[in-house]
Amino acid sequence: MLCVRIARYALVDLLQLEARDACQAKSKTMTITAAMDKILTVLTRGRLFLTVTLAMICILGDFLLTCATIISSNLRRALIDNGTHGLVGLLSWAVVVNPTLLPLGTLVREPFLWEILLCGVLSSLVDLDHFAAAGTVKLQNALSLKSRPPCHATTLIPVICLFLLLIVRLFKLQRIRRLPLILFVAWFSHHIRDAARRGLWLWPWGSTSPLPYWLYITLIVVIPYLVISLMNVTNYWTGPSVDSKHLPSVTGVQHV
Ligand SMILES: [Zn+2]
Repeated sequence: MLCVRIARYALVDLLQLEARDACQAKSKTMTITAAMDKILTVLTRGRLFLTVTLAMICILGDFLLTCATIISSNLRRALIDNGTHGLVGLLSWAVVVNPTLLPLGTLVREPFLWEILLCGVLSSLVDLDHFAAAGTVKLQNALSLKSRPPCHATTLIPVICLFLLLIVRLFKLQRIRRLPLILFVAWFSHHIRDAARRGLWLWPWGSTSPLPYWLYITLIVVIPYLVISLMNVTNYWTGPSVDSKHLPSVTGVQHV
């Protein structure tokens, strides 16, 4: 009799353990599925296309800067280099806000177009400090500085971006709430591209050695996804998404 009771308890215990394991496995599968869904939501076809284009623009710009006809002219060199910076900034923000790759005709009517253009312009404007440091508008002088100009100190980026974020939040400037992120993408992508040649200048501690080429390209394509992750952490950054008219409307938090 005792043996039968022990066997019954053991069987019940075994069944409970199996049920608990099955429950845990089911919740694990659901977690993996949710994570996969989240990754697929972020990694749209449009974003992948823009990301590949972003990497190609970097490689093409760098290749052009090795061509004799470009190197022989300071003006051509500056135009190609600065144009590449601008395109990198522009495409980086497009990855963030244009996940469905809206055609240009539709995009020009979207309020987010100014953000994309602004990111490109800001990324190009970073090099203006060469002229400020040289104290002249002469290109030759701006290109032959003995030390790096102030806006090329990477340590300034978090300080200025956080200060801007503080101002935007303090004065509740909702319409420009993404400006700190746009500035971060424009400025940091510029620094990463420059760092492939000269390293990152971490004032006042010194500079790193030049970044390996693969690391520079990887960081350039990862920056927009870091910003997307940051934007998805909180409601604050996410307003009506650029593709909101083209996707089924969802209730709750709208992610980019
Ligand atoms: Zn620069």
